[in-house]
Amino acid sequence: MKTKSLRRNKIQVVTLGCSKNLYDSEVLMGQLRANRFQVEHESASEDAAIVIINTCGFIGDAKKESIDTILHWARAKKAGRVEKVIVTGCLSERYKPELEKDIPEVDAFFGTRDLPRLLKTLGADYKHELVGERLLTTPVHYAYFKVSEGCDRPCSFCAIPLMRGRHVSKPMEELVAEAARLAKAGTRELILIAQDLTYYGLDLYGKRALAELLKRLSDVDGIGWIRLHYAFPAGFPMEVLDVMRERSNVCKYLDMPLQHISDRLLASMRRGITRAGTERLVSEIRERVPGVALRTTLIAGYPSETKADHEELLEWVRRTRFDRLGVFPYSHEEQTHAYALKDDVGARTKKARAEAVMAAQMEISRELNEAKVGRVFKTLIDHKEGATWVGRTEHDSPEVDNDVLIDAKRDYLRIGDFADIRITGAGEYDLSGEPA
Ligand code: SF4
Repeated sequence: MKTKSLRRNKIQVVTLGCSKNLYDSEVLMGQLRANRFQVEHESASEDAAIVIINTCGFIGDAKKESIDTILHWARAKKAGRVEKVIVTGCLSERYKPELEKDIPEVDAFFGTRDLPRLLKTLGADYKHELVGERLLTTPVHYAYFKVSEGCDRPCSFCAIPLMRGRHVSKPMEELVAEAARLAKAGTRELILIAQDLTYYGLDLYGKRALAELLKRLSDVDGIGWIRLHYAFPAGFPMEVLDVMRERSNVCKYLDMPLQHISDRLLASMRRGITRAGTERLVSEIRERVPGVALRTTLIAGYPSETKADHEELLEWVRRTRFDRLGVFPYSHEEQTHAYALKDDVGARTKKARAEAVMAAQMEISRELNEAKVGRVFKTLIDHKEGATWVGRTEHDSPEVDNDVLIDAKRDYLRIGDFADIRITGAGEYDLSGEPA
């Protein structure tokens, strides 16, 4: 039953999960557009004949969201609101046989390294000349910038290597060319992402080359900010800190998931670093890059985590005072090393422990924000919400960190511009300010 005239040549792409998946959707959309398809990303229009769902298969909640999205579009197909449903990405990579059996309405399932085959299914060709080109889904002034694929780390709780394969760095020349094209198109901020950013170059050049890559990207005309996400603590390439300190367009910002602080749990998680090593690294980063904002991610309720382990983590979070912090309740993922352990921390306890860590962090975040009142920060204006300009300082990544709110009735600013903003007010997770 057809409810609306569908446009055969139009494709809607839906992305779930992390910024790396978003990057892949942008590459897919660039290829589709080059093959003369009309492409939209998560738009409200309902006239696309084809929908491609780029799924996430990381942990329980993310998997559920992906399955719900697939079922939504399977129902839409039955109702004639779409003709073809295609599924790709991590969930599909991990559970293809089960998904094919359980959701037969889906026309085809693809993995995370199947772009040419997916395009072929739509009668399109993979265009090699487009390497590094994509259709941005973010405002043009900032772009996620994936420098490698896959991961060689053995973290016990993590299913990502199962879905993304071994670590493969992109050639530096390709990345520098991609950055130059983006800068020419108006991109001011590059947000560097990978499964393990600090591993960059080891496979390709036989040495850690992130510092060198940073220098090359920092030399690209027009790039005002370079931000680092997903650094790994063990074997951290300290020379990166010198580049961060010396280059004004490398943000004094570092996202480094640390997961826990208990020696026993770090060993079980196979993180390759101890409590002492972690503390040494954090203080050395702060020493070598004064004023750096540190973001981290932790796991609550890992198998065998005791109340004392949790208290140890809480005490350490209170004392370390991270600028930004997120917590995931542990998710028992089959085929991971930790799956052999007993998932003995109850769901409610996991949730309560995660909330306790976030409550402590909320206090810290408010105090750190209050200390910024009166100071002036270079701020990138992202968008306008009603009568408010919304921007970010170099200490804030899009979507996950603080916003700077500026009264638009009083002051005129331009989206995509950097502006010097004096901070006039602070909340737990937002700042307010005015042009300095
Ligand atoms: S570094 Fe560890 S947690 Fe991160 S993607 Fe690799 S295996 Fe997973």
